[in-house]
Parts: sequence; structure tokens; C-alpha cells
Amino acid sequence: MTEHWYPAYVGLGSNLQGPARQLEIAFELLARIPGTRLIRKSSLYRSSPFGGVEQPDFVNAAAALMTRLLAAELLLELQRIENECGRERGDIQWGPRVLDLDLLVYSNQKIDEQGLTVPHPGIGERNFVLLPLAEVAPGLNIPGLGQIEKLDINFSEPAISRIG
Ligand code: ATP
Ligand code: CA
Ligand code: CA
Repeated sequence: MTEHWYPAYVGLGSNLQGPARQLEIAFELLARIPGTRLIRKSSLYRSSPFGGVEQPDFVNAAAALMTRLLAAELLLELQRIENECGRERGDIQWGPRVLDLDLLVYSNQKIDEQGLTVPHPGIGERNFVLLPLAEVAPGLNIPGLGQIEKLDINFSEPAISRIG
């Protein structure tokens, strides 16, 4: 925990056990992280799975936080919430899951540590990350990628729609 408050952005995803409801619960749990405030919630988006695994569609969203936690401390809280919501560790990467919380951006920091890369790798190619993120963080400058509105978002792959 630090003296200062930092903006942080979290990507939410679920494709099991009532995904939209899972994300509503996850927003509530994000709001209760110590030293942290939930500033904005995006709409929910339905997106086709990518990565070649046959599985249900995902529901995705993003949250804007202000936090006094360090990035690594915040990631631990995100993983605690994933576990509380029934995420099974050892799930296959990009496979079905009750809840996935990715730390997308933390302040203006670039972090490359064991178990923590920020900005989260691959966000520049993921419409299901960029669309909700742009909603909660208009004008966001993503370290290494630039201003979110200037990124070339692929709207057709994977297929995505806003569901409310
Ligand atoms: P992807 O990371 O490509 O979206 P995924 O979300 O399916 O895939 P997970 O299985 O949820 O991947 O996470 C694998 C590991 O990624 C975690 O153990 C975590 O330590 C690590 N990781 C590294 N950077 C981050 C980050 N910024 N946010 C969340 N997890 C991260
Ligand atoms: Ca993910
Ligand atoms: Ca993840």
C-alpha cells in the first residue's frame, strides 16, 4: 500500500455459470478491494472465444479503479477474487472459466516481472478488451501502445456485440 492513488484498469471475462451475473458480482468485489475505489464500470460485451478452444461465448467488460495498492498487490487481490468466484487454477489458457480478471494497465507503468506483465500483453489486438476499456477510460494513453482512440481496433474478429 502506498500514500498515492494510481489509476488502474481491469479486464473482466467469464463464460461459465451465468457470465453476466459473474461479472456483476466481480464488479462488487472489485469495489471492496482494500485501498481501492471502483470508479467506472463498462457495458457488458458478448464475444466469440478465440484461441481455438471449443467453448461458450464470453462476456467481457472493463473496470476503472483508483488504488493505493502496488500493481503486484492489486494482482494478488484480483487472483483472490477469481478464486473466490470459483476459478479453477490449472484451467487451460484461453479455456472456459467462471472469472478472468486481467490487470490491463496500471498508472503509466511498464512492468515485466515473473507473473506480472503490464500493460497486459495482447490488449492491442483484442477488441473485447479495447472496446470496454475505451468506454471507462476515454483518452487513455496505454504505455507502449499509445492513445486508445488511435488504435486500429478489429471489430469483426472475434465477433463482438454490446449486450448492455
Ligand atoms: P491472457 O493472459 O492471454 O489473457 P489468460 O487470462 O487465460 O490469458 P491466465 O491463465 O488467467 O491467462 O493467467 C496466466 C498468468 O498470467 C497468471 O498466473 C498471472 O501471473 C500472469 N499475468 C501476467 N501479467 C498479468 C496481468 N497483467 N494480469 C493478470 N495476470 C497476469
Ligand atoms: Ca485473459
Ligand atoms: Ca488472466
